Amino acid sequence: MSLAEHPATPEEVISAINNYHWQQLHGSELREGRGEAAPIINPSTKDVLTTIAWATRDDVTAVVNEASDAAAAWAARGPYARAAIVRELADALEKRAEDFAWLDTIDAGLPLWMMRIDIVTGIARMRMFADMAHALTGQSLPGSPQGLHVTTPEPFGVVARIIPFNHPFMFAASKIAAPLVAGNTVVLKPSELTPLSALLLGEVAAEVLPSGVLSVVHGGPDVGDQLVRDKRVHRIAFTGSHGVGRSIQQAGAEVGVKSVSLELGGKNALIAYDDADIDGLIASAVKGMNFAFAGQSCGSTSRLLVQRSIFTEVRDRVAEAVARVRQGLPWEEGVQIGPMISQRQQERALGFIERAREAGAELLVGGSHPTELSSGWYVEPTVLTGMTPDAEIAQEEVFGPVLSIMPFDSEEEAITIANSVDYGLTGSVWTQDIDRAFRTARALEAGYVWINDTSTHFPGVPFGGVKLSGIGREESLEELLSYTQTRAINVVLR
Ligand code: NAD
Repeated sequence: MSLAEHPATPEEVISAINNYHWQQLHGSELREGRGEAAPIINPSTKDVLTTIAWATRDDVTAVVNEASDAAAAWAARGPYARAAIVRELADALEKRAEDFAWLDTIDAGLPLWMMRIDIVTGIARMRMFADMAHALTGQSLPGSPQGLHVTTPEPFGVVARIIPFNHPFMFAASKIAAPLVAGNTVVLKPSELTPLSALLLGEVAAEVLPSGVLSVVHGGPDVGDQLVRDKRVHRIAFTGSHGVGRSIQQAGAEVGVKSVSLELGGKNALIAYDDADIDGLIASAVKGMNFAFAGQSCGSTSRLLVQRSIFTEVRDRVAEAVARVRQGLPWEEGVQIGPMISQRQQERALGFIERAREAGAELLVGGSHPTELSSGWYVEPTVLTGMTPDAEIAQEEVFGPVLSIMPFDSEEEAITIANSVDYGLTGSVWTQDIDRAFRTARALEAGYVWINDTSTHFPGVPFGGVKLSGIGREESLEELLSYTQTRAINVVLR
């Protein structure tokens, strides 16, 4: 059944969400959680869209039972058969693309045009991992002169995939593909703030995947924690904040030895040298803020470091460009930035701006809650300058539409400032000098660096962070292989 007829109006989708019977894929059956019903809120209007019951402890235990029971048969199908089923799932999801785009727009407040791109990206990544099935190979090693020594990549069994709110469908789709192709069963836990597209994904998957291979559980931190602590879950893949990432490492270690990968936050620097292509740089500085996600993007280059001789020009032009970013309801034509996800995130972002100003930063653009959009959790696209590199606003991840611009004099100083934060996710270098570009890129403590670009993710190129930004690499062969563990088999010939 379709959620709504397309083309749809926001009113129609909101009403369809409200009338829909939302269920979770718990192993072999679609059912409601047995926990308390919690409201799902539209961040653009603060209205309750619907209420959905969370999974209880018993629900989660039953889900892991089924995932565990299904694991051996799923692994035994072999990589090509699994990849074919993942491709089938991608095809089935693609047929519902417009439903998914609308769901994320309403549920997460993200612009419809951007969500259409997100849906395409999530499905493309699923297919990319299916295409990598041939890479699930082992080695033959010269361990002894007469023996035969081979390795095989083995799945972990049950993988818990815990994801955040900022790319609801894209993460749900793309982050289940690698563990499934690698031969694991998966329990997906979307953010309790934005579960709708993942729940619909579960419904579509119920028609395609063998029973128990994928489950989608709806709930908050307790549900995530239970998955982490379940002894049958040996591999946990988490995307979210560093605080929760660290608590997951700790919780996992309290019950056993677990393979944990963490995609966490960032406070990323874009370094603009004085020979940069200024027009390209200005456009990139704005693009790098990911305003379409209201700055709620781990890879946002939210610190713009500009060499002093071009500082004034770049600062003023970036401020002018940000002032033109159009804010509004995320389903309206031409809107570039919608609301933040929640009151908590809105207050948090506004708190950062207020404290930065109290500490002496100068506000160039934005800085508050737009009065004409008081119906939702909006924060204006904001540009600040005049802070010191060690100020809170230059050190902490705001996860909001707030850009800090700072000057530097030398290459050495730029790198020192860029690396002065606890995070290390992305970085961007703008210069026409290839030597300087490469020197800087390699000196940056960051997992993903652009030269003369920002924000773009390229298929197959490993994405992930260093320092507080995480462990592990995704979107690549490295991700696929991270869902396997090597078994060595030694044949001793006599
Ligand atoms: P969050 O850490 O609050 O929540 C993420 C998920 O973890 C949610 O599903 C939540 O329910 C669950 N969770 C919360 N407490 C838990 C616990 N104790 N045990 C298990 N699960 C628990 O993050 P968020 O606010 O949803 O997302 C924002 C953060 O995510 C930012 O820091 C952002 O930088 C980061 N992020 C990183 C990447 C990346 O690829 N590096 C991508 C997107 C977002």
